[in-house]
Formats: sequence, structure tokens, C-alpha cells
Amino acid sequence: LLSLEAATVRFDGRAVLDAVDLQVAEHEIVCVLGPSGSGKSTLLRAVAGLQPLDEGRVLLDGRDRTGLPAHRRGVGLMFQDHQLFPQRDVGGNVAFGLRMHGASRVEQRERVRELLDLVGLPGAARRAVAALSGGEQQRVALARALAPRPRLLMLDEPLGQLDRSLRERLVVELRELFGELGTTVLAVTHDQGEAFALADRVVVMRDGRIAQTGTPLEVWQRPADEFVARFLGFDN
Ligand code: ATP
Ligand code: MG
Repeated sequence: LLSLEAATVRFDGRAVLDAVDLQVAEHEIVCVLGPSGSGKSTLLRAVAGLQPLDEGRVLLDGRDRTGLPAHRRGVGLMFQDHQLFPQRDVGGNVAFGLRMHGASRVEQRERVRELLDLVGLPGAARRAVAALSGGEQQRVALARALAPRPRLLMLDEPLGQLDRSLRERLVVELRELFGELGTTVLAVTHDQGEAFALADRVVVMRDGRIAQTGTPLEVWQRPADEFVARFLGFDN
């Protein structure tokens, strides 16, 4: 479904993405791990079309999409800092992408209700976004990203601000949901437990490059090098 070929992004001459090759197959759930500043968010933004490449290509379904604007790529992205619309209520935020896809009002309302139930915010459609906690806003952003059922969904720290019990419940429900919908997912997370529970495959990044990719078990059992082993916490 997705193929990055030698994708490179430079800021001030420094390669933040350094000739990254990455394939994601249809229906695959891939989690990107790596230290802060290793280029995880930049990778997602590049696939989404929000960050132009300096070199390399982005292919979707085998077609070169490198220059295509974000709204025409048919991919969904949930930002690390959620970026909700403060002037719309919760329902308006979740329904945003549905309206753009021409869903009727009744369809929108039904779908918003389903999604808010899913993320553990039942009945919150009329609440003001500004009055929500950080974790609640994150759940609204997750519902908004899921709403249009994009074929390729990219999530940047989707559960980062949530407490452990909610995170563990959501990981299981999300995996099920992605399976049901056939959604292909590329997700960034800091939480290894989350990555290992959610992912078919993990990608470990270091300084704009992929240090290792494999199934969670492969990476866990056979870290490719000392960096990956240390990152996974094997030295302490
Ligand atoms: P984190 O885990 O903290 O979210 P990350 O892996 O997502 O980190 P990125 O946000 O992709 O990291 O950033 C990678 C590097 O690129 C960082 O050193 C960052 O400072 C730099 N960077 C990102 N965006 C820009 C920008 N617009 N201008 C200049 N430098 C940038
Ligand atoms: Mg980031």
C-alpha cells in the first residue's frame, strides 16, 4: 500500500529523514519507535503530504504521490499535539472529515456516537473542546482521525496522555477495530508495551534512519545492534 523510497528531509542542511526506505503492506499495523528527535513525526508528516521531501519518493498503491497535496492522498493523520478545532464542539470535531466526504447529517450523528463510545467519551458530542482535559482531547482527536475510515491511518502518539488502564483497553479495541475495517496503520509510540501489543511489525528509528524493522518478537529477541538493544532497555 505504502512505499517510501530513499525519502530524505533536511532542516538547515541536517538530514532528519535520511534516505529512508519503508514498505507497509495493506492491512499491516506498523509501529514506529525511537528516541525523541529521531524523525518519527517527520516520517508521518512526509507520508501525509504535510512535509515535502528534499529527495526520494512516496508511493501509494504503486503510484508516485510525492508532490500530491495532503488532502488528496486519502490518508488520515492524528497529530502528536492533536490540533482540535477549538471553536467547534466535540461532535463537530469528530464529524469534520465526514462532512468533507459528504455523509448525511443522520449518518454523521450516528457515526459520532459510535466513535465517542469507542474512545470512552459517550455522550460528549455537545461538550466544548476547551473544557476537556488533555487526555480527553486526545481521545477526541483519535475519534476524528478514525471517522472517515481512511485506508492508511497514521497516528502520532495516539494514546500518549492517557492513563495505563485506558491505554491497555484502547490498544486491544483499536487492534480489533483496525482488523474489522481493514485499516492499514502506521503509528508512532514511545511505549514499547503498546507497540508490541498493537503492531504486526515495529520500526526502530535512529537519527533519521531505520535501525531495525521486524515483528515485535524478532526485534525483541534479536536486536540488530547495540543501539536497538539499549533502546529496548536490555542493558539495565
Ligand atoms: P519526538 O519523539 O520528540 O516527537 P520525533 O522522532 O517525532 O521526536 P521529529 O519531530 O520528527 O522527531 O524531529 C526530528 C528532528 O527534526 C528534530 O531534531 C527536530 O528538531 C527537527 N525538526 C522537526 N521539524 C522541524 C522544522 N520544521 N524545522 C527545523 N527542524 C525541525
Ligand atoms: Mg514526534
